[in-house]
Amino acid sequence: MSSSKTDVVVLGAGIVGVSAALHLQAKGQTVTLIDRVAEAATETSFGNTGIVQSEAVFPYTFPRAPGEIAAAALGLDPRVHIRYAALPAIAPWIWRYFLASSAGRRMATAMAMRGLVGRCVAEHRALAEPAGATALLRESGWIKAWRTTRGEDHAMADVEEEKPFGLPTVKLSRDDLIELEPHLGGVVSGGVHYPDPLTTPDPQALTQTYANLFVARGGKFVAGDALSLAQSGDGWTLTTADGPLQASAAVVALGPWTTDLAKAFGYRFPLGAKRGYHMHYAANDGAFLNRPVLDVERGYVLTPMRRGIRLTTGAEFARRDDPPSSAHLDRLEPFGRGLLPALGARLDSAPWLGKRPCLPDMAPVIGPAPRHKGLWFDFGHQHLGLTLGPVSGRLLAEMIAGETPFIDPKPFRADRF
Ligand SMILES: Cc1cc2nc3c(=O)[nH]c(=O)nc-3n(C[C@H](O)[C@H](O)[C@H](O)COP(=O)(O)OP(=O)(O)OC[C@H]3O[C@@H](n4cnc5c(N)ncnc54)[C@H](O)[C@@H]3O)c2cc1C
Repeated sequence: MSSSKTDVVVLGAGIVGVSAALHLQAKGQTVTLIDRVAEAATETSFGNTGIVQSEAVFPYTFPRAPGEIAAAALGLDPRVHIRYAALPAIAPWIWRYFLASSAGRRMATAMAMRGLVGRCVAEHRALAEPAGATALLRESGWIKAWRTTRGEDHAMADVEEEKPFGLPTVKLSRDDLIELEPHLGGVVSGGVHYPDPLTTPDPQALTQTYANLFVARGGKFVAGDALSLAQSGDGWTLTTADGPLQASAAVVALGPWTTDLAKAFGYRFPLGAKRGYHMHYAANDGAFLNRPVLDVERGYVLTPMRRGIRLTTGAEFARRDDPPSSAHLDRLEPFGRGLLPALGARLDSAPWLGKRPCLPDMAPVIGPAPRHKGLWFDFGHQHLGLTLGPVSGRLLAEMIAGETPFIDPKPFRADRF
């Protein structure tokens, strides 16, 4: 079978790969997008909380207070779930995460991330409008709601820290909260509203609509195994469902699976998977939510989705490929029923599992592979892949096109580990 040719092959059709493909195409490159089944957003980008977190300048760091670490380690903190059998395997990554979570390194990551996060809403709009996806982006922001003064102090400390970055927030009394979200239960006593972030009622549909735009503009989206990538002369070859493909450049956007390919080329990235689950629920008696609400002390979010009210969990520390467990979701569900008393029956037969691809410093890798011409990385978007997919795609495409990137890409370089 004769080979087909493309300028760039993008490996992985989650929100990160689809966005990169669109931006490269806009630079005049011919682009082929590859995923296992030629369907977009079947993995981590399928089932997230759906918030384009324009407030998320500070990374989600590992706790440093001994009491907080002990509570999490002993299973007393419902915000995290630890699969103890996995600890020997994931301990080296946790240690690196702990080290990268010092106050100084946390601030360094925030300074780097603000350039990306600051453009996340604009870059989503720039894709959503031509894709006909504006109805999939809501303008009502999201809320962090607290139960106790401890939760309030925690959430307001975040607000204080974020102030120099000019992020709009509105503090809510219990009455203010009920005015915005009339069906919340008596367990919450106040909150803070972030009005600027966009939210989507269907993250998978949003990514698929972006992928449809890529195809409508002439891009090819083909099934193939990214692990068949091989260097050939000055370029790259790959086996796809349509036969062999030759490309001048390859972009690796395989989310948590990036390491499987990277190690074949000698790159050992410290990539962990902070896993998370979701479940949809009916809402009884016509109750509704207008926007996602985080239960600050319990660390899960209830989000109004097309399919129902989605409960998404915080982080499960486990090996990437450990089998799913319903334990974290089962533990959080009663809290969700307190937060929204009208939360009805489960709508999914089993919890959905996603794997947040996390580097220890909670910043992505966006840039060239240090030792291979024409190989590029775009992965490690941790808790923020939906937020950062489009803006990362722009940064990557500018670098590949040899243009001056709109921000300094150095903090995201691949050789920083
Ligand atoms: C519970 C939960 C809630 C979240 N909430 C939010 C949120 O509100 N806002 C936010 O910004 N982010 C959120 N995230 C994080 C976000 O979902 C991820 O950062 C993002 O989806 C990562 O996208 P990706 O494209 O890098 O990876 P993925 O979506 O996982 O895509 C990787 C792709 O690579 C493909 N692939 C893998 N191996 C191969 C192979 N060998 N050959 C071909 N293809 C392959 C997979 O099929 C997959 O399609 C959340 C995550 C979770 C788990």
